[in-house]
Amino acid sequence: MFEYAPAPESRDVVDIPSAYNLFVNGEWVESLGDDRIKTVNPASEEVLSEVALATEADVDRAVQAARKAYDEVWSTLPGRERAKYLFRIARIIQERARELAVLETLDNGKPIRESRDVDLPLVAAHFFYYAGWADKLRYAGYGESPRALGVAAQVIPWNFPLLMLAWKIAPALACGNTVVLKPAETTPLTALAFAEICRQADLPPGVVNIVTGAGETGAALVRHPDVNKVAFTGSTEVGRLIARQVAGTGKRLTLELGGKAANIVFEDAAIDQAVEGIVNGIFFNQGHVCCAGSRLLVQESVADEVLTALKRRLTTLRLGDPLDKNTDIGAINSAAQLAKIRELSDIGEQEGAQRWSPPCTLPDRGFWFPPTLFTGVAQSHRIAREEIFGPVLSVLTFRTPAEAVEKANNSPYGLSAGVWTEKGSRILWMADRLRAGVVWANTFNKFDPASPFGGYKESGYGREGGVHGLEAYLNV
Ligand code: NAP
Ligand code: MG
Repeated sequence: MFEYAPAPESRDVVDIPSAYNLFVNGEWVESLGDDRIKTVNPASEEVLSEVALATEADVDRAVQAARKAYDEVWSTLPGRERAKYLFRIARIIQERARELAVLETLDNGKPIRESRDVDLPLVAAHFFYYAGWADKLRYAGYGESPRALGVAAQVIPWNFPLLMLAWKIAPALACGNTVVLKPAETTPLTALAFAEICRQADLPPGVVNIVTGAGETGAALVRHPDVNKVAFTGSTEVGRLIARQVAGTGKRLTLELGGKAANIVFEDAAIDQAVEGIVNGIFFNQGHVCCAGSRLLVQESVADEVLTALKRRLTTLRLGDPLDKNTDIGAINSAAQLAKIRELSDIGEQEGAQRWSPPCTLPDRGFWFPPTLFTGVAQSHRIAREEIFGPVLSVLTFRTPAEAVEKANNSPYGLSAGVWTEKGSRILWMADRLRAGVVWANTFNKFDPASPFGGYKESGYGREGGVHGLEAYLNV
């Protein structure tokens, strides 16, 4: 075996100021409050910068700016003019992709290979895709001249900071809305870099406003009376709270929440390919993925073969410096998330499941968790029911397709599922019965801006992406 030589991506492409203000009405403005929060690199615990903790008054200022921009500028522009700005933003993102990828990796802890090859290309693709819709809304199937909703309040999580921003802002702007977006507390930096990109693209002031802060800032944004639309991605717990707050206000709401996806491997599947899909399904982005294939359902007859191959594959995963281009598994995003992963994994052992991890040295500083799998998992175990949101796989077995469906659907969530089999008819049979927003066949975690994404049951409602994603931002 050859050892890998270190292949670190250079940090020199990013320039992180020691402090940021809020982005309101096209300007950097100081918060009206005094509180600031630090954002750290989770791989080293180094403080990267400080951002403002926006207050209710700051949020009000941002919403007012978005309202004014909506009334006076953005809603009066023809679609082809809005498209020009979106195309411009998409191109600038491509031009600055390397810088944004490094910044994302520093602030989030995900491997550079993923931010560079997955996040950033998808971010640009999303803006290109919705730029294309801006002047064609009448052909989208929502009437002759579909109208925008107004001001959109958007709150996003930390697992795909810039990609979730793109999923929110691109369709909103294409449809003619203006936005106030709050990034997650632990990953604000790429959203703030995006604010700079809006300036670079000469986007009219107030069309995009970015307010940093924690949960309370998000709550202030959601309850602001002059907001027409709330778009939230995050935990089911907070989603439920928001649904209650918004009920009866006339605000439109879409919720993209948690998941506990089943990745189902039949005995006729190409096993090596399935093993790659299992690894991608749960260890991509340290398992901080709402649609992660966190429950492996494997047909009993091939369970030993799959597990042996999977364990062998896991021993080759490289955990460490996220900026190293050879790294497969980066850092856990925060101390709080690490504590949650540890707690649920310990509960898995206490409840009687068997824990396994490949030999793997964790760095001394930062937040780390080894790739882990649990066998002997029962459906009643908490690690089979609750979202761990980390690199932890629960393995269950089944005998018949009907049993696989039964087990897969036995979850309060319904965001995604995977099916591995050689038989096309079985894929269709399964897809008909799985109660999940996305069903991947012989692949996993595949994304495309043209394809809608969203949940069933406690995974939320509304769709992002594709022509379906327009509906969330149009008055239809
Ligand atoms: P979270 O705690 O719900 O936070 C999400 C966002 O909401 C953050 O910006 C958070 O701010 C903010 N927030 C917290 N409390 C709020 C409140 N009362 N009112 C308004 N906003 C509030 O979720 P998370 O732990 O960051 O993210 C992980 C979750 O997101 C997982 O459950 C995952 O499955 C889900 N997710 C779903 C999708 C999807 O498309 N379905 C995609 C990605 C992630 P702070 O960060 O400052 O606390
Ligand atoms: Mg951070």
